Amino acid sequence: MNNHTHHHDDHDHEDHHDHSEFTTQTPLRADAFELSDDAKIDIIAGHFKSIMETLGLDLSDDSLKGTPRRVAKMYVKESFWGLNPEAKPTVSHFKNKFKYQQILLEKDIQFYTNCEHHFVPFFGNAHVAYIPNGKVIGLSKLNRIVEYYSKRPQVQERMTMQIAQELKSILGTENVAVIINAKHLCVASRGIKDNSSHTTTAEYCGLFNEPENRLELHRLLSIV
Ligand SMILES: [Zn+2]
Repeated sequence: MNNHTHHHDDHDHEDHHDHSEFTTQTPLRADAFELSDDAKIDIIAGHFKSIMETLGLDLSDDSLKGTPRRVAKMYVKESFWGLNPEAKPTVSHFKNKFKYQQILLEKDIQFYTNCEHHFVPFFGNAHVAYIPNGKVIGLSKLNRIVEYYSKRPQVQERMTMQIAQELKSILGTENVAVIINAKHLCVASRGIKDNSSHTTTAEYCGLFNEPENRLELHRLLSIV
């Protein structure tokens, strides 16, 4: 057993502890980024090949041969690149020259992520709102922030809070709200096999805890 696998075992034990301390951070190992992406792809491809072989698949078949490396590349380069803090989008500010003080809402930001309990997709729309203080940011940055937090194994509640927290720190205001509506394939395609249910989560901060602002946000969500 190599060193890498050994650490994994240690981590599994930690996961059984009760995490009473409040954190919205994705649980990451201290050595999460010591390996290069290419080294990770090699290791994951090897492990995924073993999974397929254990299931009884013949990896010499043309159609299956490339799958372990394809999955490994997808994990590292596409599905989970947002684990790395260095990949976080850089956001430049503009001064709020117009002194705009109403709600700014970006609606229906489409995202695809993966449930960290089953490693199958959940996907849907994020609605992101803020009431500007002194700073405003480019609208597409809101999409980029949602995308970044979706490109890691996720739970919807944590993703909602991570996006809200990031926006608060970037915008220098507490007045942020994030609402996410998602379909979870782990609920739709397996287990209970409910294909019609959606999950909605919401994080309201600062002025969005005041009834009139929350109502206004919901009104904007329903009319546009
Ligand atoms: Zn799941």
